[in-house]
Formats: sequence, structure tokens, C-alpha cells
Amino acid sequence: MRYVTFEHAGRVRPGLLAGDGVEPLLGCASLLDFVGLDAEARAVVLREAPLPLADVRLLAPLRPHKNVFCVGRNYLGHAEEVAKARGIELKLPPVPTFFTKAPTSIADPGQVLHFSGELSVQYDWEAELAVVIGTRCKDVPESDALGVIFGYTCLNDVTARDLQQQHLQWFKGKSLDEACPIGPWIVSADEIPDPQALEVSLSVNGERKQHAPTAQMIFSVAAIIASLSRGMTLEPGDIIATGTPDGVGFARTPPEFLRDGDEMSIEISGIGTLRNRVAVSAPVAAS
Ligand code: MG
Repeated sequence: MRYVTFEHAGRVRPGLLAGDGVEPLLGCASLLDFVGLDAEARAVVLREAPLPLADVRLLAPLRPHKNVFCVGRNYLGHAEEVAKARGIELKLPPVPTFFTKAPTSIADPGQVLHFSGELSVQYDWEAELAVVIGTRCKDVPESDALGVIFGYTCLNDVTARDLQQQHLQWFKGKSLDEACPIGPWIVSADEIPDPQALEVSLSVNGERKQHAPTAQMIFSVAAIIASLSRGMTLEPGDIIATGTPDGVGFARTPPEFLRDGDEMSIEISGIGTLRNRVAVSAPVAAS
């Protein structure tokens, strides 16, 4: 099933995709509320008659109250390109590298992402498979970890590389407003029995920049959840971005960064396509 959040006639509501329509979910103010129900309660939520998909605007499927959890350098190819671009020795981490993005960075599918050219001149893309937690959990063994997942979606971990470097800690360069588009929907976990059997790709203006199977993750989705939940409660609606393949802009030769008007398109097999155009304001000329 494909869960969405949509706007229709000035009202924002959660819904379920059904053919070329959207069936609004009754009794839930948001998709976050729906995900917070247990499986039995979700199964009896009633739906309204479908609205034509063409008449609604899809929004970010979820807007959690908490930061988006992220994993850095989780594809071997990306870890290699980062080490090469930074001139450092490739050392694979023994445990996942976790960081977060502020919830205010979340943006809608199809939305133009507005960035300041004064703040950064190095806006970069990162296509990622995102996991949405469906069950409150802690200390989840890796063997049970896929069972706590509500579903999967596409996520673009847009990064201001110069800010990421200047501030040493990644948080600032990863958390600018509109730097975390997600969607266009959440595919329920039952439709993706093996998250390590997907293909993630990203193109900019139709030119493919990233492409890798999720089998190349250093830490599997199950291993990430097991590690993150050790001594730390995960809650329904928590989002985990599982890392990006090689082919990001700053590590290319020569480096490439997003320019005003560029369109990024992320495609994940079995999930869908997340498109966002960027609007980068002109940097202030040096006087
Ligand atoms: Mg990332």
C-alpha cells in the first residue's frame, strides 16, 4: 500500500493511493497519527471515497516531531569517493555513523527547494532509501529489526558541503530549511520483503549521477535499526535515512554543485520517484 499526505481544497489530510485516486483516511489528523496506531487499529481505519489524484497536491508523507536520523558513509563506493576527495585514508567504521537533520528541513515532493547562495555555494545531492519506523521499540535484535518498519520512501539528504566542513559537526550543513525532501509516498513494509534488494539512483537534469543496489550498504537496514535502537527508544514515525551511494557532487572530478534551476530526480525500485527543482539565490558579490 502507498500512504500519502495530500492537500485538497485547502485541507491537509492523510490518505491511501488507490489506482488514480486517493482515499482519505478517516479519524486520523495526520499520517503520523495513523502510523502511531497499532497494526490492529490501523486495519480498521475507514476510508472515504477516492478523490482523483490529479485534483490533489502530494505533500511530504510524514513530518515527524523529531530529527531525521541519518547514516553517513554507508555505501562502500561513497566511503571510497569521500576518502579520495578529502585526501584521507579509507577507514570503514566498525559501527554506523549516525547524525541527524532538523525536522524543519523536511520538504514536499515536487516542491522547489529555495537555498541561499549567500549562505553556501556548495549545495549537493544525496539519494537515499528512507525507513519509517512503525512500532515503538528498543534493543531490537537484528533478526527482528525489519518487523518494526512501517514502510519505505525516497529521501534527498541535500547538503551544504561548505557549511558541513566549516562547522565540523555535520548538523548545520545538513539541516537547512527545505534540505530534506521526502516522498512522494510511503510504501508499506509488506511490499518490500528485502530492503537490500532495491536499486537507488539519482539524476540531475536527466543526467544520471548516482546508481547502486542497496545490497552495497555497509550496514544493512536491519543492522542500522539494531544499532540505533540499542539503549535508545525508536518511535512510530521516526525516519531513518540509510546513506547515499557514490556519485555525490563534491567528490566528482571536477566537483559539481547544484545551480539555480537544476532538477534532481531520485528513483528507488519498488518505491517511486522523488523530484525537486532547486532555486539558488545569487551570492552577494564581494565588494
Ligand atoms: Mg546522507
